[in-house]
Order: sequence, then structure tokens, then C-alpha cells
Amino acid sequence: MDESGIVCPSCNKAFLESGMEELEVPNYGKTALYYLRCRNCGYKINDFAFSGNHPTKAELKVNGKQDLFSKIIRGNQCTVSIPELGLSIHPGPIAETFITNIEGLLERFLRLLPLFQDGDKVNEKREVIMRAMNGEIKFTVTIEDPTGVSYLVGSDVPIGTS
Ligand SMILES: [Zn+2]
Repeated sequence: MDESGIVCPSCNKAFLESGMEELEVPNYGKTALYYLRCRNCGYKINDFAFSGNHPTKAELKVNGKQDLFSKIIRGNQCTVSIPELGLSIHPGPIAETFITNIEGLLERFLRLLPLFQDGDKVNEKREVIMRAMNGEIKFTVTIEDPTGVSYLVGSDVPIGTS
């Protein structure tokens, strides 16, 4: 294989290639999803190349297990926080665009945890996230996205527009 692409952050070989696929998002409509994919190791970075018209701030109350299936669409400029659990994802150079539900969001935090916390804290936080995934803790998911791409499906109550 010839290393003609962009350097992959996962395997450090220049095999990243860009592509595009059309995506149908429930309650959102069609959108073009642009991505970079590594031909060597399969690493993928997603990105939405459009700008949205959703409120720049929104929040969703999670009161029990049923709310864990609410969807979140997160653009790469979006800050996602769960203040009660002390968790947040901030925009960064390889910040990923993703569509998941609240349960998937918590799984993502579980996976990222060891990268950002030290040993003792990891175990402590892991326990709290597991309880949240079991619907034992009430919490709030907030999103802030200046581009208006991000969206919490199931929350149509903006907490401020700009
Ligand atoms: Zn790679």
C-alpha cells in the first residue's frame, strides 16, 4: 500500500482517506456525513460538513432507564456535559461527531475514562457511570454547540438561544 493519505492518529501511517455517505437520522432528516478512514487499521473520524439550525444550548433530564434511549447527535464543535456525574466532552482537533443514545454516551465516557483520570478516580467514576447506566441515578445531559449541528432528540426545550 502506498502512504499517500493523511497521517492516522491511531497507527501513525499516512493511510487516512476521506469519504462521504448519506445518512438518514430519525427526527432530523438526511445529512451528509464526511469521514476519514484509515486503510491500514480501520480507524475512523466522523465529521458533519454542514451547519445546523438547532438551539446552541439544550438539556435533557434523565430520570430513569427509559430516558437512556433518547438520541444525541453530537457535532465536533459541541461540548457535552453531565454535571451531576462530573463528565464532559469538549471540542478538539480529533473530536468525533457521533450519533448515539444516552446509554451509548455513557459507554463512551467509560471507554475514555482511563485516558483522562488516574487509577483511584477511574474506579470511583466507573462505578457512578455503571449506576447511571442502570437507571439508578437521575442526571442531566447538556449540549452546547455554536454551530447548531448538535441535537438532543426528545428534548425540544432550549435553555437559551443565541
Ligand atoms: Zn491507521
